[in-house]
Amino acid sequence: MRFKRILLKLSGESLMGEQGYGIDVKRLNEYAQQIKDVAGMGVQIGIVIGGGNIFRGLSGAGKGFDRVKGDQMGMCATVINSLALSSALGAVGQKNRVMTAIRMEPIGEFYNKWKAIEAMEQGEVVIFSAGTGSPYFTTDTGSSLRGIEIEADVMLKGTRVDGIYTADPEKDPTATKFHDITYSEVISRGLKVMDITATAMCMQNDLPIYVFNMDIVGNLQRVLSGEEIGTLVHN
Ligand code: UDP
Repeated sequence: MRFKRILLKLSGESLMGEQGYGIDVKRLNEYAQQIKDVAGMGVQIGIVIGGGNIFRGLSGAGKGFDRVKGDQMGMCATVINSLALSSALGAVGQKNRVMTAIRMEPIGEFYNKWKAIEAMEQGEVVIFSAGTGSPYFTTDTGSSLRGIEIEADVMLKGTRVDGIYTADPEKDPTATKFHDITYSEVISRGLKVMDITATAMCMQNDLPIYVFNMDIVGNLQRVLSGEEIGTLVHN
């Protein structure tokens, strides 16, 4: 096995599939099945899921929302997505629990590092919702933070592209893909992998990031089996 414990970051945007908004049940169920499959390989899994398919604080602020309230709405959006994923995991028979960075029992248990590790060691998938619990952060930062705290071997960032490119491959056909790249190069080249705060946290705490296309069914398992289908970010 390549990694013993992973932090999987899923974007809220991917969850909307072809729909353009909300939760695409087909995509949700594909994610759940893929996660169950790798849990069955004995990998310990923590998950952070974004909320961009429902609400983003920054775009809310652009429309006149108070930024802090907008961010709180965004954090609630991540809780909605986390509950959806939890439900889908339950439906395929994968034991899991949702933890929240903000107290909201009984929707989820208040986040606790040791309880999370204990659950993962017993084969439960733990979904960390509500990001960091603070405004002005993102779920990228939330996943760096949780990944470091739970002592994950790697953060697997599931996106809709198959790695990191010199430019946006959806806009620039001459863009080429990196096999691996350093955190500082990601920052100095201004590559949009994660926001700078999240990247800097991973850099300072030596948490490698592996970017891959999670929307192709089977890819999560491929990554964990050692297939080099994405881009590794390291020191
Ligand atoms: N958010 C926040 N603090 C956090 C994590 C998230 O305020 O620690 C808010 C922020 O408004 C963000 C929204 O939640 O825009 C949704 O998260 P994100 O944009 O990271 O989701 P993604 O883009 O990955 O779908």
